[in-house]
Amino acid sequence: MTMQNDAFLKCIDPRCGLEYPISSTNVKCEKGHMLDVKYSKKPSENLKEVIVNRGRMDGDVIFNESGVWKFRELLNFCQIDTFNVEECSKYLVSLDGAEGRQSKPYHMSKAAKFVGISSENFWLQPEGYNPSGSFKDNGMATAVTHAKLVNAKKIVCASTGNTSAAAGMFAANEGIDCDVYIPAGQIAPGKLSQAYQFGAQIIEVDGNFDDALKQSLDDAEKFGGYTVNSINPFRIEGQKTIPFRSLEYLKWEAPDWIVYPGGALGNTSSCGKALMELYEWGWIKKIPRIAVINAEGASTLSDLYNGEFEGEELRWNKGNPNSELINRYYSNLDAKSLRPHTKATAIQIGRPANIMKGLRALEFTNGVVTTVSDSEMLDGMAVVGLNGFDCEMASGATVVGIKKLISEEIIKKDDVVVGILTGRQKDAMIPVDYHRNHKNTFAIPPKN
Ligand SMILES: *Cc1c(COP(=O)(O)O)cnc(C)c1O
Ligand SMILES: [Zn+2]
Repeated sequence: MTMQNDAFLKCIDPRCGLEYPISSTNVKCEKGHMLDVKYSKKPSENLKEVIVNRGRMDGDVIFNESGVWKFRELLNFCQIDTFNVEECSKYLVSLDGAEGRQSKPYHMSKAAKFVGISSENFWLQPEGYNPSGSFKDNGMATAVTHAKLVNAKKIVCASTGNTSAAAGMFAANEGIDCDVYIPAGQIAPGKLSQAYQFGAQIIEVDGNFDDALKQSLDDAEKFGGYTVNSINPFRIEGQKTIPFRSLEYLKWEAPDWIVYPGGALGNTSSCGKALMELYEWGWIKKIPRIAVINAEGASTLSDLYNGEFEGEELRWNKGNPNSELINRYYSNLDAKSLRPHTKATAIQIGRPANIMKGLRALEFTNGVVTTVSDSEMLDGMAVVGLNGFDCEMASGATVVGIKKLISEEIIKKDDVVVGILTGRQKDAMIPVDYHRNHKNTFAIPPKN
């Protein structure tokens, strides 16, 4: 049986729509718009059964164990025979099946009580239980697969930490070079040490993540290098498997909400694309709403979406968003030297590179955007810990974001909610400092 797709790249702007072959390494169309991976054939619904059964197979086929590649027919941009194990081994990049393997939704009763919803309707999915400790492994497996497909010798990324850990890990495993651009002094030590451990070349940039991204893109173009940031459309393909796993676990009964912290908005974009495709293919009958949670100190999307800048609520508007409004927002940041500021460094981003795809996802899913404070995020992080699960501060945004939306009655008490915990704790002192301060809601201070 062959499952060959006609895969290609297509500009997301419906008024432009330029197309490129899958072998292209452009991350934008020639007019500067973002690109999507497109498939001209519909994967048949019978595959649902095949995919479920893959999880129960013996360990011989790592691509069936992998939480990313078990869905390979739904992201078959390599256009291979997905049932031919040799062909899979030749093309698909996997850390021996470990990416996405441990991630599924869990009930966490203390977190449910904290947010104010019944435990049966509330799920959290810890993507921190990926091999490098964050959801980034899902998208990195596919981005590095494409890098290999086009014979790239070096992958390049800018990172708030977790991207560099994931990129370094896969690059090391595949024997290719990896350059990571980081904002000097603004990376959690546990993330930075992973990049070193995996043998990546660190380039320290004076400035913030947005500056590091700009330099990495410039250098990749000048000196050659394959960019694996989430503006890479192949990253987005792998990250579709995060909602795929939630939905598979819920037997393809769509929840009412899927909730993410928002940084560069790769997750928002990939969740939107996954839901658009599943709906179009008839795999889901209902479209879950996406909620994106920004940090108060890094709230570009929330400010624009909720009309807090110049009073206009920015929308995708069927592919005709007010990009001038975004430009004016960024000029205003520059003019006033406003820098994104939050202790949750993973979402300390002022210029979300995927904002256009993020807006599209919000429009398709009738989504909402809100903000939470640093101290709220810490409470969200801490309550996850009290259920015996680990997550980092940025992931805590998901939990308190849900709490806030429930208190505002945007999320209703009997809605079914899946929250994504994006990464594992890699900043050891954050929980220590939190628990030492008895004023914190969930603190358990040490005794002597
Ligand atoms: C990268 C990252 C985010 C931000 O995700 P985006 O897809 O860029 O919005 C959030 N949490 C953690 C732990 C991350 O590593
Ligand atoms: Zn275009």
